[in-house]
Amino acid sequence: TLQGKTALVTGSTSGIGLGMARKFAAEGANIVFNGFGDPNDIKAVQESVQSEYGVKTAYHNADMSKPAEIEAMMRHAAEQFGAVDVLVNNAGIQHVANIEDFPVDRWDAIIAINLTSAFHTTRLALPAMKQRNWGRIINVASVHGLVGSAQKSAYVAAKHGIVGLTKVTALETAQTGITCNAICPGWVLTPLVQKQVDARASQQGLSNDDAKRSLLAEKQPSGDFVTPEQLGDLAVFLASDSASQVRGVAWNMDGGWVAQ
Ligand code: NAD
Repeated sequence: TLQGKTALVTGSTSGIGLGMARKFAAEGANIVFNGFGDPNDIKAVQESVQSEYGVKTAYHNADMSKPAEIEAMMRHAAEQFGAVDVLVNNAGIQHVANIEDFPVDRWDAIIAINLTSAFHTTRLALPAMKQRNWGRIINVASVHGLVGSAQKSAYVAAKHGIVGLTKVTALETAQTGITCNAICPGWVLTPLVQKQVDARASQQGLSNDDAKRSLLAEKQPSGDFVTPEQLGDLAVFLASDSASQVRGVAWNMDGGWVAQ
């Protein structure tokens, strides 16, 4: 149980981050939400989590590509709940193009949001975690932190980078009650992936369902999507006392993707 603890999940207004936030709330943790979206939708998410699980929630709209906004978010979390006990670095974006056509501003944005933001949140969260001698840092990497795919240079570079950051964070905290691990999902049907399904459907003249099947068939042997709920349960395990000696791993949940 995470009763009385606080979990901050970046990019938790949608997809995997939202699934993880709900699972942490179900364990009794107060939640700091972050991410973009319609303010009314975000308020509705907060209210549903509060009433379903009887926890407190806060929200900060920091843009993960802006270090000053990340600092403001971490200050806001400390003001609201004292400290961040569980930090989930989840916010991420994708762009698909060959290297020679890759827009330079997309490269910079992906490295900033998918990699550098985790450096900032981690450096800002660690002092209070060290003071309490307890903390969990969970980095949402990807199978693309372990293997590559064509046309995803920035994403694969950022995700391999965050697996590296995970190992160093784990080593620097090895003799404390703080652990750091990465989770490496395969395909999860979120807005980030629906965009790639849509592109495939229009390029190949496929229905939405056929485009999904073809996307999965290419990389994910199970032929099924991983769900945000399953990833949330893995994150909750990594935050538990049973996982106190799981340190610096990059744990894939990917329908067999990297077993090939
Ligand atoms: P999503 O698009 O559903 O959610 C992304 C979240 O990040 C949203 O809340 C969005 O508002 C937020 N976000 C985007 N840019 C932001 C910024 N600049 N500042 C703050 N928040 C920002 O995507 P998702 O699929 O849930 O992705 C979540 C994480 O999981 C990402 O790191 C992604 O790389 C990773 N991942 C996804 C899959 C997949 O198949 N969907 C697979 C492996 C890894």
